[in-house]
Amino acid sequence: MKYNPSDKIQDLQYFGEFGGVNPSISDSSTYTFLSAKTMFDTFEGNAEGCYLYSRHSSPSNLYLGEALAAMEATEAATVTASGMGAITPVILQLCDAGDHMISSRTIYGGTYAFMKNFLPKLNIATSFVNITKLEEVEAAITPKTKVIFCETVSNPLLEIANLPALAKLAKKYNLQLVVDNTFSPLSITPKELGADITIHSLTKFINGSSDTVGGVICGSLEFINQLRNVNDGACMLLGATMDSFRSASILKNLRTLHIRMHKHSENAMYLAEKFQELGLKTVYPGLENHPGHKIFKQMMNDEYGFGGMLTIDVGSLEKANTLMELMQEKNLGYLAVSLGFYKTLFSAPGTSTSSEIPEEEQAEMGLSEGLIRFSIGLDNHIDRTFERMKECMQEVGIL
Ligand code: PLP
Repeated sequence: MKYNPSDKIQDLQYFGEFGGVNPSISDSSTYTFLSAKTMFDTFEGNAEGCYLYSRHSSPSNLYLGEALAAMEATEAATVTASGMGAITPVILQLCDAGDHMISSRTIYGGTYAFMKNFLPKLNIATSFVNITKLEEVEAAITPKTKVIFCETVSNPLLEIANLPALAKLAKKYNLQLVVDNTFSPLSITPKELGADITIHSLTKFINGSSDTVGGVICGSLEFINQLRNVNDGACMLLGATMDSFRSASILKNLRTLHIRMHKHSENAMYLAEKFQELGLKTVYPGLENHPGHKIFKQMMNDEYGFGGMLTIDVGSLEKANTLMELMQEKNLGYLAVSLGFYKTLFSAPGTSTSSEIPEEEQAEMGLSEGLIRFSIGLDNHIDRTFERMKECMQEVGIL
């Protein structure tokens, strides 16, 4: 039987200090010791069950990490203050000065900017490739390559990475396959498909309430311990620690992720089919004409669907902006970046979340001006939403 991530989360049981149905929140940055020797041992990481200082670890962060490791089928996980706070230490832990990495060219703009503009300061080079072309990925590998990085479903173009094939390539050349699974929680379990490290921005679907930023790194216990090492661990030393109150609230929201993902996917599939019927240029991995549809289907845990993200191309930035403003006015969603909220969110990535990518490179990768990225919400009657969206499109002259 295929790995079932939400069953694994459900099987974990935690109680609060006084028998509460939710674990107690550790509202402390530092912890006392009865013996100085135990304090020393804890600092060295040799006193199981003891806490020293909340940047190192806290009970709340460990509970959330454990649940996310169960979800991603990895031995361990560590939570971080944001998605970027997860991506950056992983790369810095895996690559030394002089090393090289390969990344999909269609990734979140912040990740792209980190690789393109920041890593060269540390003499770490990145080759950006079309991740759907395996021969291009293989050709970019050099003796200095350490990492292949991709998003399972890419932001914003929704390209699908063939994770089993990339994992095979990574194994062949002894590289680490690092996968950002932010757009496809539950639907895809990268570790089960051969990935070494799985990352999420918890800010998105996993938390689902657009009230906090957060991130997680899921991997082997050995790697997670390396990240947390007091002497040379990138998570420990760069310090992007999640606050315990936030971990506690994200853990509560994680309990409903399977229901939410199911609904996000169902609503997105409905709209994608309807948009396509209207003749709009629609991209959604659930559509049979999506180039990555087959591979997504082979990789997916069926019951959670193809996810909540879709794009349409309305031809020009002006039309995209007018449509988004009108849809917001009609209360069909918010003109906002980010994703995974109960309400539909839409933005034009070329001028927002991918604006770090230079215009000529945007054009080369097919990121056109008129592209609108939708994170489809949990609307109870998506047919009613569709009719209203259609009216907006007619009013703007797109239909
Ligand atoms: N990865 C993906 C795919 C994203 O879309 C984002 C943010 O939009 C991030 C990572 C960064 O996450 P955060 O904003 O939580 O730092």
